[in-house]
Amino acid sequence: MNEVDAQSLIDASALSKSAVAVVARLRENNYSAFIVGGAVRDLLLGKRPKDFDVATNATPEQIVALFRGARIIGRRFQIVHVRMGREIIEVTTFRGHHDGDSAKVAAKSNKGLLIRDNVYGTLDQDAARRDLTINALYLDPINNLIYDDLNGLEDIQQRTIRIIGDPAGRYREDPVRMLRVARFAAKLGFNIDTLTQTAIAECRHLLADIPSARLFDEALKLFMSGHATSTFEQLIRHNLLETLFPEAVNALHLEGARDLISQAMKNTDGRIARGKPVTPAFLFAALLWPAVALRSDEIVRAGNAEGSPVNAAGQQVLISSLQRVAIPKRFSIPMREIWDLQPRLDKCSTKRAKSILALRRFRAAFDLLLLRAEHDDALNNVVKFWEEQQQLFPDIVGSQPAPEIPKKRRRPRRRKPAA
Ligand code: ATP
Ligand code: MG
Repeated sequence: MNEVDAQSLIDASALSKSAVAVVARLRENNYSAFIVGGAVRDLLLGKRPKDFDVATNATPEQIVALFRGARIIGRRFQIVHVRMGREIIEVTTFRGHHDGDSAKVAAKSNKGLLIRDNVYGTLDQDAARRDLTINALYLDPINNLIYDDLNGLEDIQQRTIRIIGDPAGRYREDPVRMLRVARFAAKLGFNIDTLTQTAIAECRHLLADIPSARLFDEALKLFMSGHATSTFEQLIRHNLLETLFPEAVNALHLEGARDLISQAMKNTDGRIARGKPVTPAFLFAALLWPAVALRSDEIVRAGNAEGSPVNAAGQQVLISSLQRVAIPKRFSIPMREIWDLQPRLDKCSTKRAKSILALRRFRAAFDLLLLRAEHDDALNNVVKFWEEQQQLFPDIVGSQPAPEIPKKRRRPRRRKPAA
């Protein structure tokens, strides 16, 4: 293993004390242990790591035996969560190569997709199984050394995203790695190595095999981590957006569509940067709004406009999007409310104004209206109307109480008949 002095490369005061304590404890017990992954990468780039991961040759059971407040989670990858005060350190056992004997702990589908991966291995094997060279750096915080076998340090210096090994093979094993490439290129502002990039074209169709729940998790990371705007550009550039939100891509040609989505992403990124709360509901509502508008126009043109065409279009867009990305109801219901409010806002009815202002989604719907108005001068008067109404009745805005969620009634437990 290529060993490098970390002293001049990493600001030791930025290390999590808890992560260092976990490493120290494992080492005192004669295991090897390192801080790995995103934390080392971010420290080398002078960024504050989001969280700290530790890799070790101790098995999950051995890890759990060493720490109070440690528990094993996960199935596809078994991980141990070690709670240290308020921090949770993720500890994983080195992963190894698969061979014929490991069928019980590792499994590939008939397309080469990894569906279970709990074969343990050595440090070298663990490094080779990671996704990107820049994510395969191992920091020993006790002796202040970085282990770099796959040229991760050089790729950090060259600002390059590079898949470890043969990109197409690694994408086949886990197609989500393609989304991770786009995400890290956007987050770090790095270039993507040529082979890492070109293999995406031949492999992106494999994302169709990924469960929609995992794609939803990944979509949150793509768009809710503070770099949505540049991630969106990367996803479009590498034709990956269509694997997640084909409806959105179909409507991107509409005038102003791309700008509307980009602006929504900029607003979200800005709020995250200022530490303000953000909701995926608004972001996904904006991302899919051009698709809803497109379908709504089609419904009107076909003369099928019974009820609200936007409502019907919203339902269609949502049903079709859920096949790829499992947006949970707590977000999809607000999304539809935001869409449904658009035609009602457009009407500017003074009579209805107060009851519309009071709706819980009014603010979010108004924010979408603002984005629509940037490319539609006809909406300027509508924006003005609702700005005036909000000034007139500031206390009413969003004042409608949240609907009461009916408490689940417990089914009375059936008593065993006395013997
Ligand atoms: P961040 O948490 O800042 O988004 P990260 O690099 O820590 O970035 P995680 O998703 O937390 O990303 O994963 C931790 C580490 O696990 C990664 O650095 C990488 O080495 C490895 N990893 C994660 N997902 C995969 C994958 N799909 N294939 C191979 N290795 C992966
Ligand atoms: Mg991480």
